[in-house]
Amino acid sequence: MDIAQHIQELQASLPQGVTLVAVSKFHPVEALQEAYQAGQRVFGESRAQELVAKQHVLPKDIEWHFIGPLQSNKVKEIAPFISLIHSVDSLKLLKEIDKQAAKNERIIRVLLEIHVAAEETKHGFTPNECRDLVHHLPDLPHVQICGIMGMATLTDDETQIRKEFHTLHELFTELKGSVFSQSEAFSILSMGMTHDYKLAIEEGSNMIRVGTYIFGEREY
Ligand SMILES: *Cc1c(COP(=O)(O)O)cnc(C)c1O
Repeated sequence: MDIAQHIQELQASLPQGVTLVAVSKFHPVEALQEAYQAGQRVFGESRAQELVAKQHVLPKDIEWHFIGPLQSNKVKEIAPFISLIHSVDSLKLLKEIDKQAAKNERIIRVLLEIHVAAEETKHGFTPNECRDLVHHLPDLPHVQICGIMGMATLTDDETQIRKEFHTLHELFTELKGSVFSQSEAFSILSMGMTHDYKLAIEEGSNMIRVGTYIFGEREY
C-alpha cells in the first residue's frame, strides 16, 4: 500500500475529534507531498533544521508540529511558523519559546511533555513536576499551554501501555478541571504512535502521532 492509501485508511478509521499528526521525520519531501495530496495537512517533525528545510519548500497551509526533544537554541529557527510544540519539558524552554514568540509577534501553542514510560531515556516532567510547574507559572504572554503529550513504554504488554495512557488522561482531566479551568485552549491530549495509537484512543487520546504506519520504516 502507498502513503496516500495509508493516510486515507487511517483518517477514515479515526473517531471524530481525533487529530492525526503525520510524523514525517527522516522522510523525503516527496513522501510528504504524497501525503499532502491525499489531504493530510498536519505534519510532525523532530529536528529543527529538517523541519525548516521542509517548511520552506512545501505548501504554506501545512500545520507543522514539533514533537522531538527541543534545544533552547533551536527555538528561534521554528518560532516564525510552528503551529504546536508537543515536547516542552522545562521551564527554561518555555521561557525561550515565549521570548522567540514575542519577537515574531505571535503566540506559540505548546503541550507539556509528561514522562510516564518505564524507560529512563524518555523526556518530560513527572506528573508531580508538571503540577508544580503549572501552579507556579510565571507570566508568559506569548505561550499558550494547550494540553499534554506523552509516550508509553515500548512494550507488547497492553496492560502496561493502557495504565500509562490512563495516567496521562487522569492528569489531563485534573489540570483541565483546576489550573486550566478557564482555558478553552487547554484541550489536547497527545498520545499514541504506530504501535499503540488504538489503545491510546481507547484511553482518551485526541491527537495521535503516527509515522511508520504511514510512511514505512525510517532510515537513520
Ligand atoms: C517518531 C515519533 C513518533 C512516531 O512514531 P511511529 O512509531 O513511527 O509512529 C511519535 N511521537 C514521537 C514523539 C516521535 O518521536
